[in-house]
Amino acid sequence: KLYNEVQDLKGNIRVYCRIRPFLKGQSQKQTTIEYIGDNGELVVTNPLKIAKESHRLFKFNKVFSPAATQEEVFVDTQPLIRSVLDGYNVCIFAYGQTGSGKTYTMTGPNVSSPEDWGVNYRALNDLFHISQIRRTSFEYEIGVQMVEIYNEQVRDLLSSDITQKRYPSIPTSYFDIYIYGFVYLDFHTLGIWNSTQPNGLAVPDASMHSVTSTADVLELMNVGLMNRAVGATALNERSSRSHSVLTVHVRGLDLETNAVLRGNLHLVDLAGSERVDRSEATGDRLREAQHINKSLSALGDVIFALAQKSQHVPYRNSKLTQVLQSSLGGQAKTLMFVQLNPDVESFSETISTLKFAERVS
Ligand code: ADP
Ligand code: MG
Repeated sequence: KLYNEVQDLKGNIRVYCRIRPFLKGQSQKQTTIEYIGDNGELVVTNPLKIAKESHRLFKFNKVFSPAATQEEVFVDTQPLIRSVLDGYNVCIFAYGQTGSGKTYTMTGPNVSSPEDWGVNYRALNDLFHISQIRRTSFEYEIGVQMVEIYNEQVRDLLSSDITQKRYPSIPTSYFDIYIYGFVYLDFHTLGIWNSTQPNGLAVPDASMHSVTSTADVLELMNVGLMNRAVGATALNERSSRSHSVLTVHVRGLDLETNAVLRGNLHLVDLAGSERVDRSEATGDRLREAQHINKSLSALGDVIFALAQKSQHVPYRNSKLTQVLQSSLGGQAKTLMFVQLNPDVESFSETISTLKFAERVS
């Protein structure tokens, strides 16, 4: 058995692995994940026994088995989220091939049932809850922005411009998206500021929405998800090829000292990490694939540089890393969810996902 240990967590970067269950109709026997330890270990089996390595062990800060609930995943994420109220910047992102459960982890499969909620909703809910508890000593203001990065262009997903101009009413079902989905929307492309600005805004022109309740957040994110789908010819296509970034800005006024604390939280559903066959992809598809490749490797390079405590951190190599800069490095805390599909057909993507994680851990 080959032992391939991902080094212990360095600095403020932690890596959690989550394995999604087999979906209905998939054969459970055909798994590539053989053993899940309770100490963050995972053994991946090579289904093609002819290869040299038949087993490989990977180590994470935590591994969530297919049976893990949304609540269990959140419990281990909560301390990070709460630190935003103390003025820390936090970045949480989900990495993995399309279909590995990134959106399930970050947003959840069904927004209308709270037990299905992913990290996004639970995080906001928790921030409201804690700020309520602290209300006698702190006055908190919470604002959110939501942007999409597609082909190295940044777009506002919450622009009231888009929703009001184009929709007589905001679509509320997938059926509506399907109908409206063929309308081309000319999203504005937004500029990025150096995110070391005092106000911490990396994308100052993306609309900022003040939120005071989970209901506000649900409504806004619904708009964001609808806007994200619009413009795509098939519903799932666009979301797997763009990064969506939900940014939560927190401003806290200490009522005793009048000091102001600022923290921000980036919640990121990354584009699918799968390799696109160069011989098959052409035109738009190839261009998209190249942009995704470039931005995911730029993200890997930044986190690798941070883990190595390198002098130079290459933030400027992609829009993604520029947008996330304030929450990567320095005092900021970063959490990566490595999403795996246990399917045999996904074996080579699983290995390449694990290699990405291994490099940045
Ligand atoms: P991605 O966003 O990475 O493309 P999705 O989150 O859309 O993947 O997940 C693909 C499918 O697997 C969806 O049908 C989703 O509901 C299901 N799924 C993913 N993770 C889980 C999980 N932990 N438990 C149950 N179903 C899951
Ligand atoms: Mg998705």
